[in-house]
Amino acid sequence: MTTLGVLGGGQLARMMVLAGTPLGVRFRIVDPVADACAGQIAPLLVTGWDAFGELESFARGIDAATFDFENVPAETAEWLASRTRVAPNALSLRTAQDRVLEKTLFRECGLPTTEFTDVATRADLDATLARIGAPAILKTRREGYDGKGQFRIRTRDDADAAWQALGAQAAARGLILEGFVPFDYEASVVAVRASDGEFRAWPVTRNWHVDGILSASLAPAVRDGEIDIQAFAHARAIAERLDYVGVFALELFVKDGELLGNEMAPRVHNSGHWTIEGAVTSQFENHVRAVLGFPLGDTSACFPSCMLNWVGELPDRDKLLAIPGVHWHDYGKSPRPGRKVGHATVCAPEAATLAERLQQVGRALGRESQVAPVIEALRDESLSLRERVPR
Ligand code: AMP
Repeated sequence: MTTLGVLGGGQLARMMVLAGTPLGVRFRIVDPVADACAGQIAPLLVTGWDAFGELESFARGIDAATFDFENVPAETAEWLASRTRVAPNALSLRTAQDRVLEKTLFRECGLPTTEFTDVATRADLDATLARIGAPAILKTRREGYDGKGQFRIRTRDDADAAWQALGAQAAARGLILEGFVPFDYEASVVAVRASDGEFRAWPVTRNWHVDGILSASLAPAVRDGEIDIQAFAHARAIAERLDYVGVFALELFVKDGELLGNEMAPRVHNSGHWTIEGAVTSQFENHVRAVLGFPLGDTSACFPSCMLNWVGELPDRDKLLAIPGVHWHDYGKSPRPGRKVGHATVCAPEAATLAERLQQVGRALGRESQVAPVIEALRDESLSLRERVPR
């Protein structure tokens, strides 16, 4: 029996457990919080990331370790790596934890980004704003997620308000000013790399955010196969540079058919949840396979699929289960504003049926605005499941 340790016990760890258990894998979870939702279905050690005494016995009881949380300190990953197999590696965590390192890596690997500069002082902010121009976004370099730790600067007069909102975090977390990208749409590519270098990616996913939090994802998402090819090539180059092992996501802005890199998540990702039902092998299963050195599974899509996030509280489950093609995921978390508590994936044999089913979902839940942009995209693009690019 193989045991995989997961640092971080949220819904991502929980879905890893659900995917890995049929492969004969057992799991042990670590999280600083006692009610971490993966703890409902796997043994949970409640301790901090620097509690090396307790982590010592955890390390002895596992065959490999991975992460559901990208902000586990890279030092903890290094410490663990001297005791057991750890994937992804500390370099990947350290790079993805810092927006400046991450965007610098993208550029070095040939993936363009918007203009960006490290901002340490108020004077830096003014100087950078004068150079980049408004609109722009001030963000914390580290520990920002779901749109938190960000301030949108619409005109240069907003600099005071931006500094008031985030200036106090400059010392502890660092700040970055980025040029605002007037993107046509947001997309992501979720990919997996094995320790022998084998690389596979799922079809590019199109994403819609509300208040900085992912609201809906559609896959396969692009009519233009060229975008799939470009996105796969960028993801592969980045993974090779980091000697990355496991699943990761590359978040992209698409403007006039060109890709810009926004950020990478060194873990399974919310925009890949559709792969549980919509692809031959899910991101969770392939992550477990990659980390443990099992052969990778097929990343082809089976159906056009749309994932809808439930943020704050769950809608009425039974109304949704009455609609064909709907798959329900309750993370076992208590409701709280802004918290991801579950998702549903709607699948259909072809795009027109998916649009009809999404319309039914919107009406049943009074959530027409959540499904509307996806329905519009489905009308616009005739999605097919043709073989896209060599994997
Ligand atoms: P992030 O935490 O960087 O993924 O940002 C959250 C969301 O804010 C993104 O998914 C975009 O919708 C938006 N956003 C972030 N950075 C930019 C940017 N430079 N230009 C335009 N929109 C952005």
